[in-house]
Amino acid sequence: MNYLSTRGHPDRKRFCEILLEGLAPDGGLYLPEQYPQVDAATLAKWRVLPYAELAFEILSLYIDDIPPADLKAICAKTYTAEVFGTDEIVPLRELEDGVYLEALSNGPTLAFKDMAMQLLGNLFEYELARRGAELNILGATSGDTGSAAEYAMRGKKGVRVFMTSPDGRMSPFQQAQMFSLQDENIHNIAITGVFDDCQDIVKAVSNDLGFKRKYRIGTVNSINWARLLAQVVYYFAGYFQATASNDKPVSFTVPSGNFGNVCAGHVARSMGLPIQTLVVATNENDVLDEFFRTGVYRVRAAVDTHETSSPSMDISKASNFERFVFDLVGRDAAKLRKLFVDDLGLQGSFDLSADPAFKQAAERFGFKSGRSTHADRLATIRDTEKRFATLVDPHTADGLKAAREQLVPGVPMVVLETALPIKFAATLVEALGAEPARPKKFEGIEALPKRVVKLPADAEAVKAYIAENCD
Ligand SMILES: *Cc1c(COP(=O)(O)O)cnc(C)c1O
Repeated sequence: MNYLSTRGHPDRKRFCEILLEGLAPDGGLYLPEQYPQVDAATLAKWRVLPYAELAFEILSLYIDDIPPADLKAICAKTYTAEVFGTDEIVPLRELEDGVYLEALSNGPTLAFKDMAMQLLGNLFEYELARRGAELNILGATSGDTGSAAEYAMRGKKGVRVFMTSPDGRMSPFQQAQMFSLQDENIHNIAITGVFDDCQDIVKAVSNDLGFKRKYRIGTVNSINWARLLAQVVYYFAGYFQATASNDKPVSFTVPSGNFGNVCAGHVARSMGLPIQTLVVATNENDVLDEFFRTGVYRVRAAVDTHETSSPSMDISKASNFERFVFDLVGRDAAKLRKLFVDDLGLQGSFDLSADPAFKQAAERFGFKSGRSTHADRLATIRDTEKRFATLVDPHTADGLKAAREQLVPGVPMVVLETALPIKFAATLVEALGAEPARPKKFEGIEALPKRVVKLPADAEAVKAYIAENCD
């Protein structure tokens, strides 16, 4: 399997070459040259597999530069009941007639990002050992991504994590999750500033090519192909749990921010999994809902990006969206470049409303969308608690609302549960007047000793800290 760039760069790469990389050299995103097709016999064989073996089968179609026995061992080590809480790994439960919740958030940090990040940690350790190399991961987080990365990389050989976060701006629970890690290879850096300052620092350090090379700086952001690939697996697992045979269509609703999660659904559907509809659920930051309704993709300015009660979906642009648009325009790299380089660069938007390709988003690729507000989230959280005695987090609530608007009788609708309610306790208290119960292993974490340094919002200070902690 070879990988290409959405922007037409002539080079082709193998999986392990792009594993440790971010963007392609031309600024594009990596995609496989084609999506392997899965036939009925294969689906029948996969239906009965435990999650780790299903993951191995799917990953094998995309990874041919890791010996199968090694890849199998990596999958088996990653997807265990011990780490993810159940033998099913992603258990499905029916909430009401035809509406299901697929639990993706029972991993170490209680959000779906663990599903991919835990695999990435093991793949990184394997590949770095094979190369005799080291990697220093530099990131910026306001919550879920940073903690998922730290829990995936803690104690891993060859990897250090330097995670910046805005001082005092994460929830006490999220802070405690990250700062209580005592592993020597995990460095929490609280920046006196806001999240944008942290992102600017990461950019500035990455743009210093000399420093980047000398200290082997890498990232684990959501455009990483390996993360997306890991997420393809739970669409298959959800499909198998929602159906008794492989001729039944199923729809999925996905709480969306950077379009990483739902893009994995697009890949699963493109491989031949019988997915009828992929519903993209957004909050007030509705860049994606606007596109699927109108054909116009309009990136928001920082001042037009709302701080909402489903904060992991607060995006101004969707960094994985380019992958889907590449398929939508028939993999025409010149056309893709015009949209993402020329149009977005010049005017901050592109318009496909008059292009025949736009109709394909719904008709051929099965996309629909929905949007929620803070009031919708509170109402959904209350209603779900009252009618089904089930607590959902604000992101999953955004999904449930959009799902109900797109229900088709006879077609199961699987809503991806992207976080546990305890991570967003303040909104649960606002909706229900009480804190959600906390899993035992997180009781009292706010009181644990914290491992964190405070630095000014200054890239030079962060560089100095990295240099000091690199031998
Ligand atoms: C990251 C995240 C999302 C958004 O996922 P994307 O892949 O960026 O679309 C939704 N919900 C939660 C809880 C998240 O952490």
